[in-house]
Amino acid sequence: IRFEECNINDVIKGALDVVGLEILDREIDVNPCFYRDIDLIIADTRQLKQVFINLLTNALQQVPEKKGMINIMTYNTLSLKGGVTIEVTDNGGGIAPEIIDNIFNPFFTTKGSGTGLGLAIIRKIIDNHKGNINVRNRPGVGVTFVINLPNDPRNI
Ligand code: ADP
Ligand code: MG
Repeated sequence: IRFEECNINDVIKGALDVVGLEILDREIDVNPCFYRDIDLIIADTRQLKQVFINLLTNALQQVPEKKGMINIMTYNTLSLKGGVTIEVTDNGGGIAPEIIDNIFNPFFTTKGSGTGLGLAIIRKIIDNHKGNINVRNRPGVGVTFVINLPNDPRNI
C-alpha cells in the first residue's frame, strides 16, 4: 500500500478513462456529479482507481442496452470526522434479495463467465483504507454503492 494525498474526483476520472470506450460504444448515460471543493484524502491512488473500475464494470454489465444510466456523486462526508463519500448508482435492475448477503464473497458470481472477485477486491481495498461500503438495493430498478473514506487512514 502506498499512501499519498489524493483527490477522489481525479481518481474516479481515471477509472472512467479506463472504461470510457465501452461507455461511448453503448451510449450509456454517465452523469458524474463531482463536488468541487472535495477534501483531499490520504489513500493509495492505484488501489482506489481499481475500486471504481470494478464498480463501473459491474454497472456496465448490468445496465440495459438502451437507456442505461450510471450516476456518480462525490461529496465531503457530513460528519465531524470528515472524509469523503462516493455514491455510484445504476439502473441495472438491482440485486435479488436472496443473494445480496453473498455479493462480497470471493468467487460469488451470477454471471456465466464471472470471476466473482470484483466486489471482494473492493471490500479488501476499502478495509485497507479504514473505510466502509454499503449497498442500497432497489430490486427491479437498480443499485447504489455508497463508499465512505476517512481523511487519513493512518490515524485510525
Ligand atoms: P462478477 O462481476 O465477476 O460476477 P463481482 O464480485 O464483481 O463478480 O460481483 C458479484 C455479483 O454481485 C455479480 O455476479 C452480480 O450478481 C452482483 N452485482 C454486482 N454489482 C452489481 C450491480 N451493479 N447490479 C446488480 N448486481 C450486481
Ligand atoms: Mg465484477
